[in-house]
Amino acid sequence: MIDQIRALEDLKCLAGARQAETAVAFDLSQRQEQADAGVPVAGQGAGTAAQIALARRESPAKGSRLLGLAKALTGMPHTFTAFRGGLLNEWRATLIVKETICLTPGDRAGVDEELAADTGALDGAGDKAIIAAVRAAAYRRDPASVAKRAARAVSERCVSLRPAPDTMTYLTALLPVAQGVAAYAALTKEAGTARAAGDDRSRGQVMADTLVERLTGTPGGISGVQIQLVMTDRSLLHADAEPARLPGYGTIPAAWAREIALTGAGDKDLALWVRRLYTAPGSGELVAMDSTARLFPAGLKRFLQVRDNTCRTPYCDAPIRHHDHITSWHHGGPTSADNGQGLCEACNHTKETPGWTAVTTPGPRHTVATTTPTGHTYNSTAPPLPGSPMRQGHAHGKQSGHSQERRLALARATP
Ligand SMILES: [Zn+2]
Repeated sequence: MIDQIRALEDLKCLAGARQAETAVAFDLSQRQEQADAGVPVAGQGAGTAAQIALARRESPAKGSRLLGLAKALTGMPHTFTAFRGGLLNEWRATLIVKETICLTPGDRAGVDEELAADTGALDGAGDKAIIAAVRAAAYRRDPASVAKRAARAVSERCVSLRPAPDTMTYLTALLPVAQGVAAYAALTKEAGTARAAGDDRSRGQVMADTLVERLTGTPGGISGVQIQLVMTDRSLLHADAEPARLPGYGTIPAAWAREIALTGAGDKDLALWVRRLYTAPGSGELVAMDSTARLFPAGLKRFLQVRDNTCRTPYCDAPIRHHDHITSWHHGGPTSADNGQGLCEACNHTKETPGWTAVTTPGPRHTVATTTPTGHTYNSTAPPLPGSPMRQGHAHGKQSGHSQERRLALARATP
């Protein structure tokens, strides 16, 4: 059994290496086709990574990293051979490429030669040991690459949000060290001042509260139309346990959703709007709305936001940035919920490249079929709303006597 596990591991590496080779060849063929079709050089290669991502069941961002890895590996023959032979897995090959990405192709080839991963030189080395070996070789060849890496790292500064247990969340900022230290010092100072003045909150609590207050400009942090809670009427009004959905976070327990909705309801600075969203029984699909305008009106945008939740491209979890006409306005596509979809910026861009088409297909829940330049079709079905069945066509447990079920979207905002 152990021999079998090892053999399968080798096979995974070989398959990964074959995927990388094929990705590079596919990129070349797409560029050639685009060149033949008269696409200018700067536009060639568009949509290639997105097609690789769909085929590999990964997000477009991951697809683009995988293609980048594959291309870099062609210039690192020893690393590529080690990957193919199972001496390095896909992740470790990625680490080697990542640590040498700021080098010139010549220096990168030099590092590849020096490490000679295909001779088993990195055998038994873990992720950290591999990173250390690659960095040492890279710095020796190009000491300035440290500075280049720092400049590149600064360009990757960002803020992200991910769920933590017990309805908590991690708000994380990746910052240049001076800014990060300054921000932390400001919070520490505030905590010291508050505690000296008799505040009985802990240091950590004051720092967290101060962070939220300074970022949002409001004590408690609820300002602007920023919370769009989606829950069933049963959960809001009848203490039902059906979880709610908080966009940008995910699923939250019903009791906690009720608390967000109702806390501060008596506060005159905060308004609570309840929008009724009607869904079809069984499929849980939101009931459509129409408009004759070319641009999606605010109500319809909100509708798409609630229905789609994140970008509709399969495996892409990015937030919605564009409200897209599935069949374009120029080709007679109406401005309607049926012909609309939420897409992130990158996916909207990809959809506009030649050879990509999309249509709405009939089904119990809203479905978009996207066809890529190679003729492959991928379906995207709108996610289930709170209280809806996960799988299409499977009716909700208890039959509702009403023809339509209600969902409520709650918005908390300053007037
Ligand atoms: Zn996307």
